[in-house]
Amino acid sequence: MYGSDSDGLKAARAQLVSYSARLLDDGLAVGSAGNMSVRSGARVAITPSGISYTEMRPEDICLVGMDGAELHSRETPSSETPMHLAIYAATKAGAVVHTHSLEVIALSAGRDELPAIHYAITGLGGPVRVAPYVRFGSAGLAASAVTALDGRSAVILRNHGAVTYGRDLAQAYDRALLLEWLARTYRLALSYGEPATLSAAELDEVTAESRRRRYGERRSGQP
Ligand SMILES: [Zn+2]
Repeated sequence: MYGSDSDGLKAARAQLVSYSARLLDDGLAVGSAGNMSVRSGARVAITPSGISYTEMRPEDICLVGMDGAELHSRETPSSETPMHLAIYAATKAGAVVHTHSLEVIALSAGRDELPAIHYAITGLGGPVRVAPYVRFGSAGLAASAVTALDGRSAVILRNHGAVTYGRDLAQAYDRALLLEWLARTYRLALSYGEPATLSAAELDEVTAESRRRRYGERRSGQP
């Protein structure tokens, strides 16, 4: 129950409400479309179904167990709860963001993949696959998304939207913004003809360099 929330879950509820408002401001969804969740141990805090983001309050956020059992049912958990839980089961995700954003939906209708026309796509694990269409809220959609996520932290859902995950909600959300930006950039690039793309070797080089800079040795002793 809400009154016995751990600090982690209280923080997750507040975060989900504030990021839901950003979802509208950033154009990643309209009305109550899309949904987000945060995992805290064996529990998942997830946005409710059918409540507009402008009216959502922390106490409206739903809690479910990893098996899908509702632990806090003041509202109905998102219809995509099975997809969120499948992603937590298959990855080390700490948060999942599902958007209905224009660029990825447009791309999903015309392409099988978002190719690497910018090296920032390494932040998502490489070129992003478009998962085959399956009806919203179904176990089939959850399976389709998980399969297409292999080695990636983002997937585009055909004729539907996109899903990203990260170690926390901030990272998952940043990846959703990055994915939308990359899809838009790709569409603009297509206006010049067939765009050049980066090879797997070039992407591996970027990933290795990013890792080296992040974990590089200190420069003590350098002039
Ligand atoms: Zn959806």
